[in-house]
Amino acid sequence: MARIAFIGLGNMGGPMAANLVKAGHEVTGFDLAAPVLQAAEEHGVKAASHISQAVSDAEIVVTMLPQGKHVLSAWTDILRSIAAGTLVIDSSTIDVDSARQAHAMASNAGCLSLDAPVSGGTGGAASGTLTFMAGGSDEAFAKAKPVLEAMGRKIVHCGDAGAGQAAKICNNMILGISMIGVCEAFALGEKLGLSHQALFDVASTSSGQCWSISTYCPVPGPVPTSPANNDYKPGFAAALMLKDLRLSQEAALSTGASTPLGAEASQLYALFEKQGNGARDFSAIIEMLRGKTE
Ligand code: NAD
Repeated sequence: MARIAFIGLGNMGGPMAANLVKAGHEVTGFDLAAPVLQAAEEHGVKAASHISQAVSDAEIVVTMLPQGKHVLSAWTDILRSIAAGTLVIDSSTIDVDSARQAHAMASNAGCLSLDAPVSGGTGGAASGTLTFMAGGSDEAFAKAKPVLEAMGRKIVHCGDAGAGQAAKICNNMILGISMIGVCEAFALGEKLGLSHQALFDVASTSSGQCWSISTYCPVPGPVPTSPANNDYKPGFAAALMLKDLRLSQEAALSTGASTPLGAEASQLYALFEKQGNGARDFSAIIEMLRGKTE
């Protein structure tokens, strides 16, 4: 069992750190928000009063923070306070350039590093069934894998520094585009007098099949567990989908990749958020696409 420091104990980090404790690791945590830190203590996480105290004795450090700028600032503090050879893992969803910068900082400090963003949301974080997509050296991945397995079900080594973030934003760009496609099809089906169930029965077993219809159907009824049956409570909030689509578009710009549907999806989610829907599940965009909230 390892001594692990966990920085950022919010909606995702809190339950992830709790699963590390359950697996028998000794976990010391830090978060800028006192209530979040207290909640983590209730799950067996030892609370530190500042970041350097949390990490100074750690064999492995995990960060789970909002954006690239938070990760770079936290890693600057962390790398000053840990021994050479310590492994630092960032599981936040951030831009590929910041992820690569964080790896370079760790390498300069003689530390191992991994970008390991997750898919699976707060439900997956609580149940320990996240998918991790990792970027970094074979040595860093081999050391991280048993620890990530305490928080996730599938751990994929995607390549070198930044490859985990690259996989995450490409996957979520597919998701944003496919959800809009599925919503448009249901909105068109409604105009054509087609029942939701009939369209679901056909498309979920035909060439239109995808996760956005089969698992996360954006209309109530066909998939009883989807947020559409629960007044579009997230699930996966539209603001987070917009964040990930914007990251995909930053990456497209910096690499010269052509992603016209990713760009359109990003604009549609920006409009949806502007209309006050950022905290709703991302599948609620069907209402805007029907024209109800314009
Ligand atoms: P959150 O806002 O609930 O948690 C982030 C935490 O980081 C907060 O508690 C905040 O106080 C803390 N924090 C910020 N700066 C800090 C610093 N310098 N030192 C210590 N603590 C600091 O966010 P979340 O939903 O847990 O998401 C975390 C990351 O995971 C994001 O990058 C998000 O995109 C990604 N993600 C979220 C989900 C989801 O469904 N919520 C799913 C997959 C990935």
